[in-house]
Amino acid sequence: MNVLTKSSEVKICKFDNSYQKLPERFYTRLNPTPVKKPELLRLNLELASQLGIEISEHTKEDLTSIFCGNLIPQGANPIAMAYAGHQFGHFTPQLGDGRAILLGEILDSSGSRVDVQLKGSGITPFSRQGDGRAALGPVLREYLVSEAMHALGIPSTRALAATITGEPVYRETVLPGAVLTRVSQSYVRVGTFEFFAVRDDKKATKILADYVINRLYPHISKEKNPYSSLLREVSCRQAKLVAKWMSVGFIHGVMNTDNMSISGETIDYGPCAFMDKYNPKTVFSSIDSHGRYAYQNQPRIAQWNLIQLAESILPLISEDTDKGVEIAREILEEFPKIYEQNYLEEMRQKLGFISPKTEDVELISNLVELMEKNEADHTLTFRLLAQELAPLSADFGMSARDLFKTPEDFDNWKTRWKKRIALEKNPAKILADVICKRNPVIIPRNHLVESVLSSAIEDGNLGPFNEFLDALSSPFDNKLFGTKYSKLPDPPLASYQTFCGT
Ligand code: AMP
Ligand code: MG
Repeated sequence: MNVLTKSSEVKICKFDNSYQKLPERFYTRLNPTPVKKPELLRLNLELASQLGIEISEHTKEDLTSIFCGNLIPQGANPIAMAYAGHQFGHFTPQLGDGRAILLGEILDSSGSRVDVQLKGSGITPFSRQGDGRAALGPVLREYLVSEAMHALGIPSTRALAATITGEPVYRETVLPGAVLTRVSQSYVRVGTFEFFAVRDDKKATKILADYVINRLYPHISKEKNPYSSLLREVSCRQAKLVAKWMSVGFIHGVMNTDNMSISGETIDYGPCAFMDKYNPKTVFSSIDSHGRYAYQNQPRIAQWNLIQLAESILPLISEDTDKGVEIAREILEEFPKIYEQNYLEEMRQKLGFISPKTEDVELISNLVELMEKNEADHTLTFRLLAQELAPLSADFGMSARDLFKTPEDFDNWKTRWKKRIALEKNPAKILADVICKRNPVIIPRNHLVESVLSSAIEDGNLGPFNEFLDALSSPFDNKLFGTKYSKLPDPPLASYQTFCGT
C-alpha cells in the first residue's frame, strides 16, 4: 500500500464494492500514486449527480485530491484488475490495469452498479515498461469522445472528471500529466476471461462468468446453460454496438480483446476517430499499418474477438469439448446476421424509413457506394436528407447534393429514395423529424478535436474544449447548423493520424 496516499473520512458517495470480494488472483490491491500539484480541469456535474455525488457539499480541494488519486474516498477499495488480451491478433497472457485503478463500485440513482476508475493514476504490478501515467491530450480526448458517444446514444463509458497532475510525462516529448476518472457498467473485458483461460484456471473462469452473469445479465442466470447464453448475450450487445459505431462513422482504432467490454459499451478510447468523408477503408491509427481495425473491418473483428471469448469459456459451456465447440459455433455464426439486422435498422432510421421494405438493403448500399465514389461527408449527407422532405427552421446553407463531386449521382439516388419514402404512411414532416433525431449535425470532427486539444495543451486555455464538449452534448440540435462545429474542414484534412493514448 502506498504510504503517501491518504485513505480518508471524506464520503462522496455510497460505494458498494463486489469485484474486490472475488479471489485475490483477480486483481492487486493498491492505491494510486500521489501527484504533486493537481488541478481539477473538468467535472461532469450531471453524471456526478446521477451517481449520488453532491458536488456542493465538498471542497474543491477534496474533489481535486480524490479525482487525481491523492485521497481515497470513504468506502473505496482500490484495485488494479488482471487481464490478458489479443493485441493485433497476438496473444499476451498478462496485460492488466497498468495505468488504471478501480476505486470501487457505486450503485447509481437508477439502481445500476457502475465501476469508477482512475486512468493515469500511477504504476501497478501490471505496468510492465510503462510509467502508469497518462498525458493531458489523450485524457481530454477520451473525455470528449466518450461523452460525445453517450450523447449520440451509443453505449459508452462516461467521463466523470479530468485533473492535471502537475507532473510531466515523458513520451516523444515532455507532456503535462493528467488523470481521467471514468465510469462504466463494468471493466470486465474479453481479455479478463482470457487471463484465466490461458492459466487453465477453470475455477476462476466459472467465478468470473457467474459474477458477470449476476451483475450484467441476471435474466439468464436460471437458464439451463447460462454460459452459452452469456456468449449469446455478449455477442448480441457487440453486434448492436458495432452497428451503432458504423452508423456514425466511428472507428475505435484498437479493437484488441482487452479493449472489448463484456458489457457491450465502448471502452478504452485511444486512437479512435470519426471519419469525415465516407471511405470504408479508413484507418487513423498510426500503429495499424495493415488496416486490421479499419472502419469496414470492425464487425468482423468483433466476431473474431467473440471467438476468443468463446474459447475461454468453452469448458463452462460443455464438459464435452466437441459439444461445446458445436454450441459456440452455432451462436457465433449468428453474429453476422444479427449485426446486419442491427445495421440495417440503424440505416433505415437514418434514411427516415419507419416500416421496413426489402428494397431498403439495396438503397442503403447504393447510397454508401456513391458516397465513397463522391467522397461525400458521412455525417452531413444523412442529416441534410431531412431538408429534402420538409423545410426546416434552420437555414443549412447547403444541400446533400453539394457534398457529392458528381451531384447527379445524388440526384439519381434521391429519386429512388423519394419513391421509397412515398411508401411510408407518415407525412414528410414526421419523417424529416425521424432523420433529424437519428443523424447528428455534429460529431467530434478530427480538425476540431485537434484544435481544442492544442488550445488546452499549448495555451493552457480550456475554453474551446469546454465549449465544444457542451455543443457535443446535444449533437442533434438544428441550432448547431452554421456554427463552426458543423462546418467541414477547409481545406479538407489531407491525412490524419491518431496515436495510442499512452
Ligand atoms: P491500451 O493500449 O491502453 O489498451 O493498453 C494496453 C496495455 O498496456 C494495458 O495493460 C495498459 O494498462 C498498458 N499500458 C498502456 N499505457 C501504459 C502506461 N503508460 N503505463 C503502464 N501501462 C500502460
Ligand atoms: Mg486498453
